[in-house]
Formats: sequence, structure tokens, C-alpha cells
Amino acid sequence: MTEQKQVLCASCKCALQGPANPQLSDMLVCPICGNGDTVDVVNAEVGNYIQEQMSQAIHKAFTNGIGTTRSFKVTSDFQPKGGHRFIVDLAL
Ligand SMILES: [Zn+2]
Repeated sequence: MTEQKQVLCASCKCALQGPANPQLSDMLVCPICGNGDTVDVVNAEVGNYIQEQMSQAIHKAFTNGIGTTRSFKVTSDFQPKGGHRFIVDLAL
């Protein structure tokens, strides 16, 4: 059993609405602001979002760990690209 994450509109934090068994070409749309795209595109953007959140979490853990034990400077140059239209609640 794989848990299907509910995709949310990034600006409204509202679950996207779509057909019960969406195909790749079906639209998922935010019921509040109308933000939406096909399942295909939404999946791709959510994939990027997840990857970015993971990198950010790892980066944070890494810099925090170094900061407590060593005094050398870790350049904190990780910049989230942002601009996501669709997100999922990852609870990292
Ligand atoms: Zn919205």
C-alpha cells in the first residue's frame, strides 16, 4: 500500500479537485483560485517540490550538525527555487 499524498494549491493550501480516477490528461484544479493543470504536469511539479524540500531538510540537518561541533564556517547558500504552484504536506 502506497499512501497517496493529497496535492494542495501552493497559494491557498487547498486540495486540488479532479476526477475520482484521474488520467494523466485530466485537470486538477484548485476550487478557490482556479490554479490547476493536468495530472501529468501537477505530478512533475510536485516531484520537483518534494526534491527541493528534501534537499532543504538535508542541508539544514547538515549545517546544524556542523554548527554545534565545529567553528568553521559553512556557507549557507541553499536557495529554494520557490515558485511552486502545487505542493504536498510532507511533514518533514
Ligand atoms: Zn488556490
